[in-house]
Amino acid sequence: MRPQADAVAHASQPLRGEPDPPGFPSDAARRPTPPSGGGRTAIVGAGPAGLTAAVTLARLGREAVVFEADDQVGGISRTVVFRGYRLDIGGHRFFTKVPEIERLWHDILGDDLIVRPRMSRIYYGGKFFDYPLRPVNALRGLGVVEAVRVLASYIHAQLFPVADERTFDVWVSNRFGRRLFEVFFKTYTEKVWGMPCSEISAAWAAQRIKNLDLMTALRNAVLGSAGGGRPAVTSLIERFHYPRLGPGMMWERCRDLAAADGVPTHLRTRVVRVLHDGGRVSAIDVVGPDGATRREPCDTLISSMPVGELVRAMDPPPPVEVLEAAGKLRHRDFLIVALIVNRDQLFPDNWIYVHAPEVHVGRVQNFKNWSPDMVDDPNVSFIGLEYFTNRGDALWQRSDEELIALGTSEAATIGLFSPGEVRAGTVVRMPMAYPVYDGEYEAHLQILRTWLDRIDNLFTVGRNGLHRYNNQDHSMLTALYAARSITGARLDVWTVNEEESFHEEIRGEAGENVRDRLTPMPVEGGLDGVLREAFAEYDAIALGGAFGIAAAALLALTTALLLWGPHDGFVPMLSLLGHYLFGYEVSWPGLLVGFVEAALGGFVVGWIVARLINLLTAMFLRDLERQLATLTTLEAVDGGRVDAG
Ligand SMILES: Cc1cc2nc3c(=O)[nH]c(=O)nc-3n(C[C@H](O)[C@H](O)[C@H](O)COP(=O)(O)OP(=O)(O)OC[C@H]3O[C@@H](n4cnc5c(N)ncnc54)[C@H](O)[C@@H]3O)c2cc1C
Repeated sequence: MRPQADAVAHASQPLRGEPDPPGFPSDAARRPTPPSGGGRTAIVGAGPAGLTAAVTLARLGREAVVFEADDQVGGISRTVVFRGYRLDIGGHRFFTKVPEIERLWHDILGDDLIVRPRMSRIYYGGKFFDYPLRPVNALRGLGVVEAVRVLASYIHAQLFPVADERTFDVWVSNRFGRRLFEVFFKTYTEKVWGMPCSEISAAWAAQRIKNLDLMTALRNAVLGSAGGGRPAVTSLIERFHYPRLGPGMMWERCRDLAAADGVPTHLRTRVVRVLHDGGRVSAIDVVGPDGATRREPCDTLISSMPVGELVRAMDPPPPVEVLEAAGKLRHRDFLIVALIVNRDQLFPDNWIYVHAPEVHVGRVQNFKNWSPDMVDDPNVSFIGLEYFTNRGDALWQRSDEELIALGTSEAATIGLFSPGEVRAGTVVRMPMAYPVYDGEYEAHLQILRTWLDRIDNLFTVGRNGLHRYNNQDHSMLTALYAARSITGARLDVWTVNEEESFHEEIRGEAGENVRDRLTPMPVEGGLDGVLREAFAEYDAIALGGAFGIAAAALLALTTALLLWGPHDGFVPMLSLLGHYLFGYEVSWPGLLVGFVEAALGGFVVGWIVARLINLLTAMFLRDLERQLATLTTLEAVDGGRVDAG
């Protein structure tokens, strides 16, 4: 079951009909081991991945059943209905480069899959800025005074860059100026990741930001990105597909199609144990709505539950190092405060990024603008305020009432509407919204993969199932691979979206840059650290001291030698130093004066030399990093975003 190194191939054949027409997908993505055979398939989870597996197997006439812990389908991509109004957890654009997934979406929803215009802006300092950023709009929004400050701080950064740029804030400020960093980078980054920019490694910034200086960014923004256009991404920025009643409509329809073909979905039924013999799964234990545990035999298991939880549910349990690795995979959580507001139109955007530091909210969704049918009342708006958080932190633990009050007051603070206009509100918490890519996750994941690969009839699929920033399309594709494997194709789910991870154009959350989701690294480490170590800075005080001591000692020694010995010819020459060192002459009192002044002068010269060397080294390093980063990252002017879906 080990993946092929070079494998990724997108499905290109229609879903209907018999499995795996020739060429679907490329041989490189095929599993080296034989297929798992027929019989009953149990599917864990009724999110996009689980339901794609369900509908695929149903259409192929296979016996299967879905178990979903929640009381509705759709997973993270569900639509939640509150008092008849619909909300989407995070705002799900339907965008894919995989033709088969595109066809499947249209196949499932038909005319209910509508095309919507995209509009999103940044809110900061009481103003709105177009996103992606446009220089003229940004400068106009900032105003004359702020624009001058931005320019002045940019010039200052170019003339006096901070030599030690190991941290995110310094790295960005050196390239864009401190002021622009504060406006467009600092607060949103800190909201998304919950840590100060001064503690985030500069290497993380270099990975994510292609336009390494303001001039390049401006040029790209005005003239377009050099080196080839990206039409798919450009069109995505302007419009996207969306189910008329929100993303959950896709998954509810999918559930119904699967059920009609004999694959039912059991809601409020959690899979708690996976029974296996080390090579094959034989059954699962589920806890149903009545709280009773029952055993469900199966010949194959497709699981979209988080891979760490899957490993912990295995019975007998895996070796302790596998369990430990499972425990070390981390997630970032997310919650949304949804408010019904008594106003027909609040703002024209689908969503707004909130950079304003005075509020906690990271983004505001306007569901009416995603689809008019989300809000079946022309007189009201339905708004979602998004907060990035960790389970257990103070924000997560607030009661729903407190969160609704917070959302209401923060919306008022940024001037969206007044508290009196809020009719009602609700809170949706979404644990494990983002798999965290920290410095160690790959190693931990590899341990889990290696162990799970031994179990021939088990497929782990989806976003958390693979601990990968899979969008709906890639989550679905993994499930399609699994279903096809059961019917004879030998496909490796781990190859889906794998190769893109090493390509420049990594697209996640329907077109946003997955690199943005790389978890910030702590300050030390990485190539950046190695370079900094190899080109260590001179300590200006130390070098000044050394120069001072050397100069003073040299002068004192020479003067003393002349005073002690018969070197009269040299006395007038050395006395010339009196032009530079006030009060110096070849005498014992002159020696004392010269000693002090030579020490001071030497110190100043040494200090200046150290600063100059550091400046030149920093310029050299920046150039080196610029070349390295340009090799690895090709993000357009909107690539600087530290986004979250
Ligand atoms: C804020 C945000 C914005 C996003 N925006 C977009 C976007 O614009 N476009 C896009 O394409 N994608 C987007 N995504 C990604 C998209 O949500 C995921 O790709 C997709 O939902 C993953 O599907 P899945 O089936 O793998 O997992 P999930 O959606 O997580 O579904 C897994 C299901 O398994 C169930 N489950 C878990 N454990 C058990 C168990 N033990 N027993 C039974 N059931 C269990 C869960 O309850 C859940 O219903 C976004 C994600 C986030 C967080």
